[in-house]
Amino acid sequence: MAELGSPGLGYAKPFLPLGNLLRTGYLVRADSVGGLAERIGIDSSVLEETISNYNTHAQRGEDPEFGKGKDLYCHYLGDPGNSYNPNVAPLDKGPYYAVWMYAGDIGNFAGIRTDEHARVLRTDSSVIPGLFAVGNDMASVFRGSYPGGGSLIGPAMTFGFTAARCLAKQEGN
Ligand SMILES: Cc1cc2nc3c(=O)[nH]c(=O)nc-3n(C[C@H](O)[C@H](O)[C@H](O)COP(=O)(O)OP(=O)(O)OC[C@H]3O[C@@H](n4cnc5c(N)ncnc54)[C@H](O)[C@@H]3O)c2cc1C
Repeated sequence: MAELGSPGLGYAKPFLPLGNLLRTGYLVRADSVGGLAERIGIDSSVLEETISNYNTHAQRGEDPEFGKGKDLYCHYLGDPGNSYNPNVAPLDKGPYYAVWMYAGDIGNFAGIRTDEHARVLRTDSSVIPGLFAVGNDMASVFRGSYPGGGSLIGPAMTFGFTAARCLAKQEGN
């Protein structure tokens, strides 16, 4: 839940009309926190208390519950106009919006160990001939961090190319 500030909310962008998203139910809007809770069918006193606690810390740009805004990548996606923390600001002005969130996966940091040619390695680091891994099957070159947009597709394409080149050389092409 958030005010629809400059970063937007999910698919909703602050510079695009919201009418269709409200009509389809993607976004739910109300003038007060309690009103929003009623519209999405949750206990209004719990939501009001949650927002009140959040706001207490957000005034200092802190989010002790979820730790939002602790890394540079998050800051890049946030609102630079918020001087304390681009990702954390008090929710104290209506209208308020809710969006349904669904868990999903976009990528993988762990995976099969390979060398620089995307050849799969055994535990003793020797190459398994003829076996390659790229994309989400391959252990990420970024070793568990996400330095920026393209951190999954970029290596997938690069090591796919490298693997194909290595294969072509093996075939004598
Ligand atoms: C919503 C979303 C947004 C994303 N945004 C970004 C982004 O901005 N930047 C970025 O870098 N990454 C992004 N990603 C992540 C990136 O798209 C994936 O990490 C990447 O596409 C994985 O590539 P892959 O080839 O390993 O797997 P996939 O692209 O999943 O390819 C696997 C293919 O194998 C096929 N397949 C599965 N089982 C079989 C079978 N038994 N037989 C034959 N075929 C089979 C599947 O149909 C699929 O086509 C995003 C992902 C999502 C979901």
